[in-house]
Amino acid sequence: MRRESVMRSSDAASARVAFADDAAIDRGAQILRDGGLVAFPTETVYGLGADASSSQAVAKIYQAKRRPSFNPLIAHVACLEAARREARLPSAAIKLATKFWPGPLTLVAPAAETCSVCDLARAGLDSVALRVPANRVALALIRAAGRPIAAPSANRSGHVSPVTAAHVVADLDGRVDLVLDGGRANMGLESTIVSFVGEKPAILRPGAIARAEIAAALGMELGAAPEQEAGEAPILAGGTAKSHDAPRASLRLDAAELRPGEAGLDFGGALAASDPSAVVLDLSPGGDLVEAAANVFSFLREFDARGCAAVAVAPIPRHGLGEAINDRLRRAAAPR
Ligand code: AMP
Ligand code: MG
Repeated sequence: MRRESVMRSSDAASARVAFADDAAIDRGAQILRDGGLVAFPTETVYGLGADASSSQAVAKIYQAKRRPSFNPLIAHVACLEAARREARLPSAAIKLATKFWPGPLTLVAPAAETCSVCDLARAGLDSVALRVPANRVALALIRAAGRPIAAPSANRSGHVSPVTAAHVVADLDGRVDLVLDGGRANMGLESTIVSFVGEKPAILRPGAIARAEIAAALGMELGAAPEQEAGEAPILAGGTAKSHDAPRASLRLDAAELRPGEAGLDFGGALAASDPSAVVLDLSPGGDLVEAAANVFSFLREFDARGCAAVAVAPIPRHGLGEAINDRLRRAAAPR
């Protein structure tokens, strides 16, 4: 008995952090394909990675970070070719990618028809943020996973970004399936984010590549960075926050029942509907907040697709991921 419990605790510790050799990277890739979370080094900071094409997997990122809101995440890809399957990159964006990738440059562009990055990772936007990191472990992991990897910094929301595996463990222990230890992330600065969504390229977030370097590569001045919120997640630039950020339907929150003509956004089967033909989508019939987070953006799209003008929304618990879900629904319900 005693031996078993000792083994279990040491197994748990060694299972969570692994020196990033080929075997550990393969194990990490398998965890990612299975919908788990893997922290890995990049040249900027350690990232908390999940399969960007799976909203269930991406929901776990927000849960682990305890983020109070859904910010769009950067999808990490292995090469420019992979990026071009995800986004419609204009020639200026390709010029920057050719010069700075692999490296601390994130490109935001309209999502391509073939985009595999899920709605939740894009926070419901029609654009997608992409980067090819300059780190051997990160690139090997992304290649082995065979899909884009969504990865914000691997720290608890509001804490400082981690630059060592030990920092990740200190912040996220027990919330990540594997931490690949690849030594110190040597830059510590975040990637520079350049958007190609508006008329003119714009820097959404200053970072490790200076504005002047970007301007020189493009042979033009860039649009000004938008006002940004304090804290780790800058708000979206004007021009990117439109589109599917808010549904066309009006939302009535904390509803107990459907009124005539309303559709329903349910949680745990709480909404009473007298009209059996009403459109009712349940974020999670079993009351699971991870499942609800995974569904929220695609369901809001679905109401638009079905032409619903008014949606009654059931109460959603406020703990855990419920905070971010409520935040999103409150914004969507705000008068425009
Ligand atoms: P990070 O905190 O390094 O993971 O970077 C995430 C940030 O990238 C977000 O807070 C946004 O500022 C930006 N971002 C990601 N996706 C998009 C997008 N589709 N449109 C605009 N900005 C984005
Ligand atoms: Mg961060």
